[in-house]
Amino acid sequence: MKLETIIGLEVHIELRTKTKLFCSCPVKSDVSANTNICPICLGHPGVLPVLNEEAIKKTLLLGLALNSEIGEISRFDRKNYFYPDLPKGYQISQFFLPLLKGGFLEIENDGKRKKIDLERIHLEEDAAKLLHGEKGESFVDFNRAGIPLIELVTRPDLTSPEEAKAFLEILHLVVQYLNVSEAEMQKGEMRCDANISLRPKGEKNFSAKTEIKNLNSFKAVEDALNYEIKRQTLLHEEGRPPKTNSTRGFDEKKKITVLQREKEESHDYRYFPEPDLPIFEMKSLPFPLEEIKNSIKELPLAKKDRFIKTYDLLEEEAKILTSDLALADFIEKIISEIKTESEEDRRKFVKLATSWTINRLWPELVKPENFAEFIILISQNKISSASGQKVLEEMKKTGKKPSDIIKENKLEIIGDVEEIKTIAGKIILENKKVVEDFKKGKENALQFLVGQVMKETKGRADPKLVQEILRNFL
Ligand SMILES: [Zn+2]
Repeated sequence: MKLETIIGLEVHIELRTKTKLFCSCPVKSDVSANTNICPICLGHPGVLPVLNEEAIKKTLLLGLALNSEIGEISRFDRKNYFYPDLPKGYQISQFFLPLLKGGFLEIENDGKRKKIDLERIHLEEDAAKLLHGEKGESFVDFNRAGIPLIELVTRPDLTSPEEAKAFLEILHLVVQYLNVSEAEMQKGEMRCDANISLRPKGEKNFSAKTEIKNLNSFKAVEDALNYEIKRQTLLHEEGRPPKTNSTRGFDEKKKITVLQREKEESHDYRYFPEPDLPIFEMKSLPFPLEEIKNSIKELPLAKKDRFIKTYDLLEEEAKILTSDLALADFIEKIISEIKTESEEDRRKFVKLATSWTINRLWPELVKPENFAEFIILISQNKISSASGQKVLEEMKKTGKKPSDIIKENKLEIIGDVEEIKTIAGKIILENKKVVEDFKKGKENALQFLVGQVMKETKGRADPKLVQEILRNFL
């Protein structure tokens, strides 16, 4: 039996706004749990939501860049369900009148372009984050509750896991180009649910679909869909294709999907208009739509085409140069500096500039926003300068953010004086000869001991503090 695969995606993207969707709590990651909270995002009785204009602007910007249509009016609705991550017992979302309908995103897979149609794009608030302990206990962090979240739903236009991955990769780049979100998937700033069903080729009706929830990397999306194709193919071949819609989770370690529940229908959520927020008319927005239309930048694939055409670049070169907006801007600035006599000289210069940038310079560069964070961490004494060197090397190698590198490699400075005292005591006991030298007046001996303590702490202590502690001991 020849089967065809039908895939649709539902993507959630946290917006890069200063504050949450309905209150003035800051949108920040890397802070302690339950610190960016207030009575509004905690859903206390009697509080009222105030809509964040910036979130509306960013949603409209993304939608317009993806050719979606803006309706005449839009409204928020309550999606009712009870879960510990939802302080109000409902989520303010959009069901009946989303901000944007339709549109498309062009993808590139295997050298071929294809337009993937969109169903809708709407704005809602994110839920809090649940963390599960090893002993089965659960914790909830409300920092995420109320962060503006875009939901983008595609039509079932994707026909393979590779296409699904290509869609997410280009969408990821588009939201970064437009400065709508950083969309870091490992931080959950971009998450995806994938719907998949198979049907015999030529069949017009859809089979029951499976929704795979909360995929948080491109690879997870591809792996989960590949597994589902195998599983559902087997069911079709055995003559018992799925009869009801279902929801499954993905086990990244075993690379299998696991049944979670038979699908809830939308009416289970008892949607109704949010009474605390007015309907808004697009023609009376507090900002001109033209302003947003004019701020749409050239999107990645268009930029790539232009680079190939204008600068005579190879496909692969243009792909790398447009894979990051800062890099694309960088190379264009260099090219604009070129003043040559002939077109041939110019072409030669562009070739050299791109190949040196791609092969030599870019791998050495650290993203400006990462470097800024790095300097802040140093200035706040969060890491020692010895650790700073390591962090910088790792930033160049992996492109990761300094705060993530520090966490992963346990490079935070030791702020605990007692801990340093314990280590210093141990070093003194182990180096009696050096201690005697110091007492005889050899200043160098002290430097040796400081070095030993620094070595023991793997460079995570403040050398001045170590010296002071050693001097006191001696
Ligand atoms: Zn709040």
